[in-house]
Amino acid sequence: MSHAPTTLLSRRHQQIRTRLEAERLDALVVTSRPNILYLTNFTGSSAILVVTPEGLEFITDFRYVTAVEAARATEYGCPGLRLALVEGSYDATLVARLRALGVGRVGFEAAHLSVARHAWLSTSWTQAVGEQGQFVATEGIVEHARVRKDEYEIRTIREAARRLSVVAQQVLADVHAGLTERDVAFLIDARIRKGGFERSAFDTIVASGANGALPHAHPGDRVLARGDLVVLDFGGVYDSYCVDLTRTVSIGTASERARFVYDAVRDAHDRAIAAVRPGISRFDIDAVARDTLGTHGLAEVFGHGTGHGLGLEVHEDPRLAKRRPDTDTRDESVLPGMVFTIEPGAYLPEWGGVRIEDDVLVTAGGVDLLTDVTTELQEL
Ligand code: ZN
Ligand code: ZN
Repeated sequence: MSHAPTTLLSRRHQQIRTRLEAERLDALVVTSRPNILYLTNFTGSSAILVVTPEGLEFITDFRYVTAVEAARATEYGCPGLRLALVEGSYDATLVARLRALGVGRVGFEAAHLSVARHAWLSTSWTQAVGEQGQFVATEGIVEHARVRKDEYEIRTIREAARRLSVVAQQVLADVHAGLTERDVAFLIDARIRKGGFERSAFDTIVASGANGALPHAHPGDRVLARGDLVVLDFGGVYDSYCVDLTRTVSIGTASERARFVYDAVRDAHDRAIAAVRPGISRFDIDAVARDTLGTHGLAEVFGHGTGHGLGLEVHEDPRLAKRRPDTDTRDESVLPGMVFTIEPGAYLPEWGGVRIEDDVLVTAGGVDLLTDVTTELQEL
């Protein structure tokens, strides 16, 4: 179980109920695991949640019943939760429970239900209740609530970021010539575990020399050698929340070109962070990073977005990306409580790459840097 206090879970439920009312839904079927976790503190792997105006129907199987029952009596127990044990299959139990609830217009999460499950559920639901049974696709109802973090989440992410900064500091002492990328990735993952994280948030990236030009390189057998730049990108999950950090280091003395590219990326990183404040558009933060790289002649070699939201998932909203005039018609401002990465990079084919990534929180007054490790180029 996760540890959001009961009072905050109630507030989250209320936000979902407001949306149910606006969309004229009698219930919302939640099938996304992070969304279920957000609304109940449940961290198990199998459950379906049904949110209604009155309560929450929580469908799970015998493996998790004891844990859910035990959590009830605690200060982070989920309010209004009714437990329904799976009989037969999850989806058959869901249809039976919906029927018992007497609901008609039921929303489901379009992004988190397979075509096969949707076909079975909508057919079974209509058969069970006839014409008044509507199975309605919804988009991002819970995700929308998750974008702005509450005080519990901010506290947890702050602590996670503090711990990841310690890990990063230790990692800088681990890296040296003669190790393979894979060796370094192994050391980083061990540091993450020792640092109190449940697990790494994604496959750790160690990209040395020319491999650094691939933003998502997998660590391989390449041996770190003097003159290499090495991109180290890693993250951890702490009490269900993800943090993410990148530093690029030099093995031995950096070449003039390496220092030039590094300084340009660092400039983009610093300026983008300085631009973060409530009300600025997520596209404009991206533009600050992109334009800064442009002034150094590197706009063409920055091929990804400037950042992504962090929370129960390592990539969530808001996305800080280049505005695409055809699809990005709405300007979305960042708001207090949003947590995201700032991670500009420059990737030069056959030469290598640089990326510097930190995690920030938007506050009422501007921005808080959550991760705290030197951004001076380290020559190791
Ligand atoms: Zn990262
Ligand atoms: Zn990232």
